[in-house]
Amino acid sequence: MRETKYIFVTGGVVSSLGKGLAAAALGTLLERRGFKVLIQKFDPYLNVDPGTMSPFQHGEVYVLDDGSETDLDLGHYERFTSGRLSKLNNLTSGQTYETVIQNERDGKYLGATVQVIPHVTDVIKDRILEVSNEMKPDILITEIGGTTGDIEGLPFLEALRQFKDEQGHENVAFIHATLIPFIKAAEELKTKPTQQSVAKLREIGIAPDVLVCRSEHPIDDDIRHKLSMFCNVAKEAVVPFIDLPATIYEAPLKLYDAGLDRIVCQRLGLESEKPDLVSWRNMVDRMVNPTHEVNVAVVGKYIELADAYKSIYEALRHAGAANDTKVKIIRVDSSDVETKGAETVLDQMDAILIPGGFGERGVEGKVLAATYARENGIPFFGICLGMQVATIEFARNVCDLEGAHSEEFKPETPHPVIHLLEEQKTVTQKGGSMRLGLYETKLEPGSLARKLYDKDNVSERHRHRYEFNQDYREQFEAAGLKLSGVSPDGTLGEIVEIPDHPFFVAVQFHPEFLSRPTNAHPLFRGFVKAGLERRLGE
Ligand code: GLN
Repeated sequence: MRETKYIFVTGGVVSSLGKGLAAAALGTLLERRGFKVLIQKFDPYLNVDPGTMSPFQHGEVYVLDDGSETDLDLGHYERFTSGRLSKLNNLTSGQTYETVIQNERDGKYLGATVQVIPHVTDVIKDRILEVSNEMKPDILITEIGGTTGDIEGLPFLEALRQFKDEQGHENVAFIHATLIPFIKAAEELKTKPTQQSVAKLREIGIAPDVLVCRSEHPIDDDIRHKLSMFCNVAKEAVVPFIDLPATIYEAPLKLYDAGLDRIVCQRLGLESEKPDLVSWRNMVDRMVNPTHEVNVAVVGKYIELADAYKSIYEALRHAGAANDTKVKIIRVDSSDVETKGAETVLDQMDAILIPGGFGERGVEGKVLAATYARENGIPFFGICLGMQVATIEFARNVCDLEGAHSEEFKPETPHPVIHLLEEQKTVTQKGGSMRLGLYETKLEPGSLARKLYDKDNVSERHRHRYEFNQDYREQFEAAGLKLSGVSPDGTLGEIVEIPDHPFFVAVQFHPEFLSRPTNAHPLFRGFVKAGLERRLGE
């Protein structure tokens, strides 16, 4: 019988040290050794899912095929491996407590006192087994969010300790990702924070098998020896993970050079050939040494935060690699377009992208950006709210529908060219209630979208409440804005484009969630190519 091997990745010393990236990169290596790999995340926060969190708090909300709204780390996992994840792959403390409390209310605990051990820990372990039984990976990598020592993380770590004892040492490996800070004054790398963080783990009963050591400087033999001694980890399992200035997609290559996958396979008794990294290396080469360059403006409202449009930025980079082009992403605050004028802010841009969003702030700036792109023949790509904004812009400025707007922002608009989805009219709850997940789109023969996808039907991930109002379809089409993608029954507008423009495509869904580094999304690829053609004056 097939048995799943389990790898748990914990973090030490600080957050944001690339633990998710290390987990994802290990996934790449193991998958390219021929194993079926899934990567998932346990998040100790109390939200049931991140769908209700502001992007300012937590970066982008990443949407899966089944419509679950998850942590952006799942985006990394899907980009680094081919596994498509499901709601089972993101467990939060909020979910575990929700389950336990529901069980208690249903009388399932038969009068027992309900406690963190065993009731909460049981829910956590059950989830791991459920994923293993239903999704049947050879290797299941689970990243534990937060930092070792956090109060919230304790039930998860305790559950993993129990899990290892129950499943057998040979089936479970622990990787601790940690920071080795460099103290300038002493010109030394310091191991003490890692020693202490490992001590904390051992207090709980978890002894890491591997240390992945994030550092800005090379880690020499002495440091490895010291870490090995003090942390009780074999010296060869002290794996350096030096900062990656060029691209995060180098991570699997660096960790391969450091032997991470070999060590993990040895530890878990997994036998395979070396990983096949040819296509991955080619992609990294094109990212690191591109022939061309384009400036792409991303006009949004959460631009201060690097992670708010994470998947969009990554999809642009994939498309860059596919076009042998460095995509210079210029994050533009849509409010600046409003106050300073589109001409001033967007003058140097080869292409303009408007991403998804919620709330009225900054919408008029996005409308101006769309007008600027349309009137000046600058390649334009609208995504979700970006598509809605492009529609509003066209209604106002080409169809002369004065005051046209989305009901989201102006319920009393005389021309609701974007209106609430029928199914949303009865929805009152905020969490998990939008039109979410994978839905099919039928592409119009002869359209640019049809040509780029090279398919008649596509399935893309969605996350919205409002939609293109088809009462205006004829008027738009007569004026030059075509509906080039609709839901299979024709009721929902999914893609609009302006044929009489070098590249003006806007989509109601989120194509960025399905772009992969070695397989760039066709719409992003076409968009970057159009930007490059403009740049080269073709
Ligand atoms: N706010 C818009 C809607 O709900 C757009 C959503 C989005 O961009 N993700 O339809």
